[in-house]
Amino acid sequence: MASAPRWGEVGKESEVSGRPFLQIPGPTNVPERVLRAMDRAVPDHRGPEMPAVTGEIVSRLRGVFGTHAAEIVMYPGSGTAAWEASLTNTLSPGDRVLAFNIGHFSHLYAECARRLGMVVDELESEWGSGPRLAALEDTLRGDREQAIRAVLVVHNETSTGVTSRVGPIRHVLDNVGHPALLLVDAVSSLASIEFQFDAWAVDVALTAPQKGLMLPPGMGILAVSERALAASQRATAPRYFLDWQPVIEQLHRGYFPYTPATLLLFGLREALRILDEEGLSAVYARHARLAEAVRAAVGQWNLQILCRDPAEYSNTVTTIVVPVDADSDEVLRIADERFRLSLGVGLGKSKGRAFRIGHLGSLNELEVLATIAGVELSLHGAGIPIRLGAGVAAAERLFAEPAPTAVRAMAS
Ligand SMILES: *Cc1c(COP(=O)(O)O)cnc(C)c1O
Repeated sequence: MASAPRWGEVGKESEVSGRPFLQIPGPTNVPERVLRAMDRAVPDHRGPEMPAVTGEIVSRLRGVFGTHAAEIVMYPGSGTAAWEASLTNTLSPGDRVLAFNIGHFSHLYAECARRLGMVVDELESEWGSGPRLAALEDTLRGDREQAIRAVLVVHNETSTGVTSRVGPIRHVLDNVGHPALLLVDAVSSLASIEFQFDAWAVDVALTAPQKGLMLPPGMGILAVSERALAASQRATAPRYFLDWQPVIEQLHRGYFPYTPATLLLFGLREALRILDEEGLSAVYARHARLAEAVRAAVGQWNLQILCRDPAEYSNTVTTIVVPVDADSDEVLRIADERFRLSLGVGLGKSKGRAFRIGHLGSLNELEVLATIAGVELSLHGAGIPIRLGAGVAAAERLFAEPAPTAVRAMAS
């Protein structure tokens, strides 16, 4: 079959009409309201208009991070830049760092620290499992000189569809009485899965806006605790562009030390307004419900969800293992060519073995049903034996019951 032209490709019409389905776990679909908010003249980033925009963003972002007073830092960049900022601003070359390696992204976060000159120990889990708390406790207790300066956690491991429980990790640190900083990647969880920066005493949380925040890519965003600010006074890792001190100082006045991604800021303000209109608890409940429908469909296909423990199921991404004699890339190819449905590839060691459905951001029940239908048709097309309609029916049975109103009331 001839491959379909890409959506938006200049001079070509797509063979598939209608909108494309972007169901990778980020970037996610950008709501019309956000697109319109960015469709405007580029403002003077040192002009009088900016402080109201950045001020509103900072205050609404604090709500999404679950913090009253953490400093908010924003850079042009991406989640990877935010990783680097979280490390260079708090640590020095040679510092010991402990990282959970539970999949592709958590390993890369550890690798980032290693490249920056930190000495990194990785506590590995089998893919599909979350952080090993007993191993954390043993390692921290063994660290009598308290040389470990930071613990790196990926809240939602986007490669495996596993959500780490950050609260219990904080408890281990507290029980052992270990002063290491707690640095948390919330790139594919923030604004979709509850995050509690203050309650979990997180020191740095970081994200990028192209996932739960429903924006195009182009920024790195951090929340920074007082302890992390104090650590940055001593940290000697080289930094210039990502030095958060000038960013924080300027942001207090509503500005940036260099040209920010101004149009993204207008989009971000709108996205945060949308989230607050729905109410964060309703947003989290919606993600839980949509994720449950996807998992119900997978159950009907008799395929394995890579995440083993239902208590660690991710509400933003589901990683699905295909039978040993099948190729997950073939499923993705069919989804893309026939239906303009983009699904996530199997990353790292699950390449060809698994694929991922992203179900986060701007998404509703009918869109999830269409996604499930597209996956079913693609599995069928790839010769994987499933009963057409079984997954859609399972999800519909779940959606037939309206979302609990208690959740809605709570949010308003
Ligand atoms: C997407 C993602 C990143 C990387 O973000 P970029 O914006 O691509 O640099 C980091 N961590 C997690 C958990 C992610 O899902």
